[in-house]
This record gives sequence, structure tokens and C-alpha cells, in this order.
Amino acid sequence: MRGNETGTTGKKRGHLDRKGLQYRLYTMFVIFAVIIVALTGIIQIIGVRRQARQDTLDSLEKTARNISATYGTSAFRNAIRSVIYQGEYRVRVMRENGEMLIDTSDLSVYLTWPEIEISMDEVTGLLDHSQGSFYLTREDSLGVKWIVYGQMVASWDDVREILLITKSIQGEIQKIRQQIFLLVIVAGVSLLVSFLLSWYLAKSYLKPIREITDCAELLAKEQYDIEFPSSGYTEIATLSDTLKLAADSMVNYEKNRRDMIANVSHDMRTPLTIIKAYAEMIRTISGDNPEKRKQHLDVIISQSDNLSEFVNQTLELSQLQSRTLELEREVFSMSDLIRSVCEHLRAIDQGKHKFRLFLDSDTTVWADPGRVEQIVQNLVNNSLKYGGAVIDLKVHRIQEMVRLEIVDYGEGIPKEKLPYIWTKYYRANPYGKENGNAGVGLSIVKEIADMHGIAYGVDSDVNQGARFWFDFPYTGEE
Ligand code: ADP
Repeated sequence: MRGNETGTTGKKRGHLDRKGLQYRLYTMFVIFAVIIVALTGIIQIIGVRRQARQDTLDSLEKTARNISATYGTSAFRNAIRSVIYQGEYRVRVMRENGEMLIDTSDLSVYLTWPEIEISMDEVTGLLDHSQGSFYLTREDSLGVKWIVYGQMVASWDDVREILLITKSIQGEIQKIRQQIFLLVIVAGVSLLVSFLLSWYLAKSYLKPIREITDCAELLAKEQYDIEFPSSGYTEIATLSDTLKLAADSMVNYEKNRRDMIANVSHDMRTPLTIIKAYAEMIRTISGDNPEKRKQHLDVIISQSDNLSEFVNQTLELSQLQSRTLELEREVFSMSDLIRSVCEHLRAIDQGKHKFRLFLDSDTTVWADPGRVEQIVQNLVNNSLKYGGAVIDLKVHRIQEMVRLEIVDYGEGIPKEKLPYIWTKYYRANPYGKENGNAGVGLSIVKEIADMHGIAYGVDSDVNQGARFWFDFPYTGEE
């Protein structure tokens, strides 16, 4: 069964949910876009001028190298011509004494060169303090920055001939701006694409999540026959599988709960019916017959005992399971404890069974003696009910362990039923119900052993008796 369109516990679909995946995904993308645009702007403002200046200088250096290499040869004319055609450079060759040999500004068809005054004294001064070449920057009346690159190309009669190349950085700024513009367009397009992609992804992620949410809501309404949607995404498929498992275990839990209620009400109803029947018998039949009345009253008393035993055990188990009872651990000798428990058991049993003791010395443990006694009581009770005439109580040191064993030689438990005997209200032999068996004794034993964190187990089979064992860590000599 599929979920409905709108959830009852969830927010209304289509409503802007600020904590929703969709909202967060979009916000992240918008923030991301703003950061990219801001970064591009910052690069533009800070970086462009510096870069343009460097690029202009590089190109001036290269041009100067080309021209000076051909100076005085026939290739010089071509070198100058190509510079003129590019239209970006003003090339001058001047003598130190101020005589102008070449000035391409006379030939340039593209640009009117601004007046940037450079005196010959300044040029020679810079040349004297440099290693053959220099540059200086100038700003014209329009605020455009120019770079003048100078280099000595020849010397006649101690008079130096100097090459001066002028270029504005505006051209390079333009080039870089164009590149950034292209970059911005590419960034814009890729942002748009990724935004669309995020929208598509959010939609495809959210669809199965919403379907699962709808199913989980049905689960909360105790509707267990749900078919959880399977999805192409591993994480969502895992979530779906986990919820399926949860639904299955809720079904099991529900079945167990019903079984348990059925069992408990049966276990309570049986003695109550017997008590009522015998009470009525006393009223109508045996009231005046002291012997019969005693017989019937004995049944009533024994059934009341069974009932109160059942209620007490059930209460105790639920306290243990909810861990509301704490262990009261202390260091004691397991052998000493079992010896005194055995004396007590023998006294109650009045010699009907044979209790044998096998006790090692030096069996110190750190445990709750009251709870260990309860384990032994419950197991001996079972041995009295299902076992033979002999019950063995053993305490052995096995390396760093103190092993407690309760062994009987009675009807035993079928091997295939062994895994279930620790379960609440489970009885290996369901016909024994009327003997006051609540099916809780071993569940209490299991809880106590688990609270101690010890290893424990049982070996048994039909007519082989039963051997229950518990391994407590040895704590060293007292
Ligand atoms: P119950 O009140 O029925 O004895 P327990 O939890 O103590 O409940 O035991 C669960 C079941 O395990 C019993 O109903 C019985 O079938 C089986 N069992 C326990 N101890 C022994 C034993 N020593 N010998 C044979 N069967 C046993």
C-alpha cells in the first residue's frame, strides 16, 4: 500500500520549509553563486591593473628586444613597420644630444599620441643608473597610464643612441576585461546549469523520502501491511529496508504481545477458575464435612500460592528487564554461598531429594550474592519439578573463571527447544501448565546473568537430564 499525498505529522507540501532539504539546497546554491560573483568582482578590481601593467611591460620588453636586435641592419625597417601596423607602440630612436633619428608617431595612422614629456636628462640619468634598459610610467591629461621603455641600441663617438618605446596599459586592461567577461559568462551558464541540476536532484531525492515518510506515518498508525518504496539511491534504499525491518519487528512484537496476553490471562484464569469451583464446592457440598472441607481448602490455598507466585515472578522479571533493580555486588566465595544455599534447600526438601555438593576452594567472585542465590533457587526448583532424585551443585575453578553448575538427571529438554527456554512464558512441555509453572523462572535467571555480564548456557536432551552453567570471573584470593 502506498502513502497518501499529504502527511499528517509533516509540514504541508509546497509550503516553504526553512529546515527542508529543498530550501537548504537552494540557499546553498544562491550563496555559492553570490560568492563566485563577488570573487570575480574582487579579482577584477584588485588584479586587473597590476596584471595589465605587467603584461604591457612584458610586451614592451619583447618589442624592444626585436627592434634592437635588427638595429643597423636591413631588417630594421621591417621590424619598425610591423610595430607601426600594430598601432599600439610609439617607437623613437634619439641621440643623447636630443637629435631625433626616428619617431613612428609621425607615421601612425591609428593613434594620436598624447604629449608625455620626457626630458633627455631624465632619460640619460635613468640609463646611467640601469643595466642597459629602464622604464618609467606617465599619466596623460585623460588619466590614461603609459609606460615608456628605454634601451641603448648604439653608440657613435661616445654619443649613445637610445630606443624609446611607449605604450598605454589601456589595451592590456581591455584584453583582460574581455577575458573576465568571458569567464563571467561561463560562470553564469555553469551556475544556471548547476542550479537546474540541484532542482532536479532535490526533486528526485525528495520524492522517495516523502514516500517513505508517508509509509512511516502509516506505520505509526499501526498499519503494518505497508510496501515501502524502493529507490535507486543506496542510502534511501537502506532507510527503506531499515523501516521494513522495523515494521516486521513491530508485527512480531504485536504478535508476541497478543500471545503473552493470551498466556497470562490463561495462566491466571486457570487457578482462579479452580479456586472459584472449590469455594463453591465448600459452600454446597463439603461445608459440613471437615475432612472434605480441608481437602478443598488445601486446593484453594495451593492455587492461590501458584497465582501469587506467578504474579510475583512476572513483576520481578519486568523490574529486572527494565533495569530498575540494581545489582548489589560484593566479593565473596561462591563455594561458601552454595554450601549455605544447599543447607537451606535440604531443610525445605526434608530429604525427598539428594543434594550433592562438589565445591573447589578459592572461588572468589565479585557478584550480587542475593541474585546468585535466586539463580540457584530457580534452577533447583526446575530440577525438583523436571529432574530425578539427585541434584548436583558444583563450583569449579577453571583458569580465571569460577564455574557454577546445577545438574539434574531427569526428563531433560529436547535439543531443538533449548534456544527458547530463556524466553518469557515459554514451556518446553506445555502440558505442565497446571503444575504452577509460570514459564518465567529461566527468563529471570537470564536477566540476572546478563546484568552480571557473564557467560552462561545449558546442555540437555530428552532423558539426559539438564546441566545449567554460569562462568563468573575469578577475582583472586580473599
Ligand atoms: P517454568 O515455570 O515452566 O518452569 P522456566 O522458565 O523455569 O518456567 O522454564 C522454562 C521451561 O524449560 C520449562 O517449562 C521446562 O519445560 C524447561 N525446563 C527448565 N528446566 C528444566 C529441567 N531442569 N529439566 C527439564 N526441563 C526444564
